[in-house]
Amino acid sequence: MFEVYRDRDSAKVGLFNGLLQENGIRTMLRNWHASNIIEIPIPYLFPNICVFSKEDCIAAKEIIESYKNDDRGSLEEWVCQTCSETNEGGFSECWKCQTPIEE
Ligand SMILES: [Zn+2]
Repeated sequence: MFEVYRDRDSAKVGLFNGLLQENGIRTMLRNWHASNIIEIPIPYLFPNICVFSKEDCIAAKEIIESYKNDDRGSLEEWVCQTCSETNEGGFSECWKCQTPIEE
């Protein structure tokens, strides 16, 4: 088991997890619910993404790094035109009503 990413913000962990799966990497999330129940941030308990082979670990880190460095991947929040819900940057569609983000 190889950990490739860890963050207190489970939205970010979920985002990168989806990104890795889109790239054909099999992942496993650990501590997924822990961040909701702890009040004091303990890095050991942060949600994190694991992969099952060293090759996937290297590939996954490259994908995450290239995404972080990608200027096109704006992470600003956006407001859904349909239901006015605020969405995290990185979501390509509204989490609530699934309306795709305006281009
Ligand atoms: Zn919406």
